Amino acid sequence: MFTTRFAPSPTGQLHLGHAYSALLAHDMARSATGRFLLRIEDTDTARCTPAFEAQIYDDLAWLGLTWETPVLRQSDNTGAYEAALESLGNLGLLYPCSCTRGDIRRAASAPQEGAPMHGPDGLIYPGTCRHRRWEDRTDTDAIRLDMAHAVNSLPALPQYTETGVHSALRLTRAHLTDEVGDIVLARRDTKTASYHLSVVVDDAEQGITHVIRGKDLATATPIHVLLQALLGLPTPTYHHHDLIRDDDGKRLAKRDDARAIALYRSEGSTPQDIRRMVGL
Ligand code: GLU
Repeated sequence: MFTTRFAPSPTGQLHLGHAYSALLAHDMARSATGRFLLRIEDTDTARCTPAFEAQIYDDLAWLGLTWETPVLRQSDNTGAYEAALESLGNLGLLYPCSCTRGDIRRAASAPQEGAPMHGPDGLIYPGTCRHRRWEDRTDTDAIRLDMAHAVNSLPALPQYTETGVHSALRLTRAHLTDEVGDIVLARRDTKTASYHLSVVVDDAEQGITHVIRGKDLATATPIHVLLQALLGLPTPTYHHHDLIRDDDGKRLAKRDDARAIALYRSEGSTPQDIRRMVGL
């Protein structure tokens, strides 16, 4: 059955861009007589607050959305991320990393490395700790995926279907090894699974068949499809949609409180007004 989700992080107010994403996913689920689920992506404990989470439920209900309960909260699901990490570690695909951001910046801009390259997660990791073994990890290490090793461990590269706005990105060996590199799967500062790992584990756990999200996240999709293949999880269809922009053409960010749904509500807008504003 068609199953999709809206997966906000409670780090700020929902704005028109979130409204568009949530309404679109909800409408697509309803027209396919499918399921619409909600997931609270609250692994970033330093930035997530209960007040923002409460506001998400309130804004979405006001918009007329209904979703299944219980809602999956990532902070309640850390055991599943640890299990996924463990299984990738046991496959020999992970290594511990003690580099700080400064270490990475310095190593990546060393003269012999050429110009530092940026991937979807920031600077491409120059590989300083790649020789370290998963078994030797300590509590102060981050955990990285050895990308070349991971790609080579698969008999064939996984494929996926993309609908909506097509991104220029392709899931190729060269893209993953040269332009993405050894991404972090568990963070050093918070000891929690990274966005990539938790999303992949949760999409599988929630039985998501269609991931509907903004095209700003299209760069993460090849990473997610790779992780699904490594973990033996199913790959959903990916639908990337256009972004709602402000009057200057910039995409909306959480700090754009001027576009917060709560503000429109307090000024007397109706849910139909919001639908009209986002072009639905
Ligand atoms: N939590 C992410 C965000 O708020 C969305 C994750 C996803 O849709 O995969 O941007």
